[in-house]
This record gives sequence, structure tokens and C-alpha cells, in this order.
Amino acid sequence: MLKIGLTGGIGSGKTTVANYFAALGVPVIDADQIARELVTPGQSALQAIVSAFGPAAVDSTGQLDRAWLRARVFNDTDIGSGWRQRLESILHPLIRAEMQRRVQAIMEDGHAEYCLLGIPLLVESGQTDLVERILVVDAPEVLQRQRVRERDKLSSDAEIAAILHSQASRRQRLMAADDIIVNDADLEKLRQQVLMLHQRYQSLAVAN
Ligand code: ATP
Repeated sequence: MLKIGLTGGIGSGKTTVANYFAALGVPVIDADQIARELVTPGQSALQAIVSAFGPAAVDSTGQLDRAWLRARVFNDTDIGSGWRQRLESILHPLIRAEMQRRVQAIMEDGHAEYCLLGIPLLVESGQTDLVERILVVDAPEVLQRQRVRERDKLSSDAEIAAILHSQASRRQRLMAADDIIVNDADLEKLRQQVLMLHQRYQSLAVAN
């Protein structure tokens, strides 16, 4: 089965694009969603995070304290990047294994022509072997910042800048792309691009 990796920088529009594909009946596997499931209380990933970062990584109810962790992991220093690498070394192999398990389940189900794997750090984490094609959602950085600011009222400009800095540059991502969606206008233009790509992927899946 044809597997398309969907990626893009923070606030580029990945989730919106994934939702449009899902509305067309395309199975979407979302690495962020898997990551959230992996760190729920009782999961071994949460225990590994507490062992690595200490008990402050969870709040008084035993949930991962995301704001605490984000402030450290996206702190633009060597210590911050060391923390980020540790966190990624815990989560990435588990996310990868779960995505592979879900791809297998979709294949066994036998109904889908192709599926989408939404992996924000696809290019950075060297997981491009999981997919046959890479679809990049690209937006000007000023729009990325503005959309994230409007969506996450709590994110400070410094936090957004640190996350942008930790990710691949637009150029690096575009160099890895087989297909590009340019998200620099309204939602209708975005949806039209998804419709065109859906047709393209359906024909590629048949040719496969
Ligand atoms: P993140 O990396 O933070 O998970 P993302 O790449 O998944 O973000 P979205 O959540 O899809 O990005 O989009 C960011 C915000 O911008 C959302 O609130 C979304 O509704 C809005 N948005 C995305 N594209 C457009 C657009 N073309 N016009 C207006 N708003 C948009």
C-alpha cells in the first residue's frame, strides 16, 4: 500500500490538511496523537520520561506536565537540545513501532488505496524510510507564527521561535518533498490542493 508522509513546520497546517484527507476517507495515522497516547499514566513511556527528567515531569494528578517539559526541551541552549534528544530517544522508537503496527492493520483491512502518516519531524528524525512519498505543507514563517499565536493563546513568541529553531528549515524540508502544499491563503485554497493530490495519490496507488 502506498504510504504518504505528511510533514511541515509548526503551525504550517498539517492537522488541517490531514483532516481534509480524512474527510475523503483516507486513513490517517498521526504521530502526535500516538505520542499523546504513549505518555498517558500507566504507559511505560511516561515512566521512562520520569526516570530521565525527574518527578517534576508529572503534575500532582500523575499526568505529564507538558508545559514544564516544553519549557525545558525547547529552551534554546545546549542543555535544552540535550533534553530534547533524550525525550526523542525515548519516544521516537515507540511512535515508529506503533505507526508500523497501524499501517499493518490498515493493510490487513484491505480497503484503503493509500494512507497518510502525519509525522511533524519526518525529515529531522530520518524516518523517511517509512513512506514512499513525502508531502510537505509549506507556509511563510510569519503566517506560521501568527496562526500558532492565535491557536495557542498560551504560547509566547519566544517559545514559538525556539520550536521553529529546533525544526528543519523550510529549505531542508522542501528539498525532501515529493509534493508540496502551499498554505499561504484561505482554507478553501488549501482544500482544493488536497483534492488535487487525492486524485494524484489514487492514480499512483493503482499504478503501484
Ligand atoms: P502544529 O505543528 O502546531 O501541530 P499544524 O501544522 O498541525 O500545527 P494546524 O493546526 O493545521 O497546523 O494549523 C494551525 C492553525 O492555523 C489552526 O488554528 C488552523 O485552523 C489555522 N490555519 C491553518 N491553515 C489556515 C488557513 N489557510 N487559513 C486560516 N487559518 C488556517
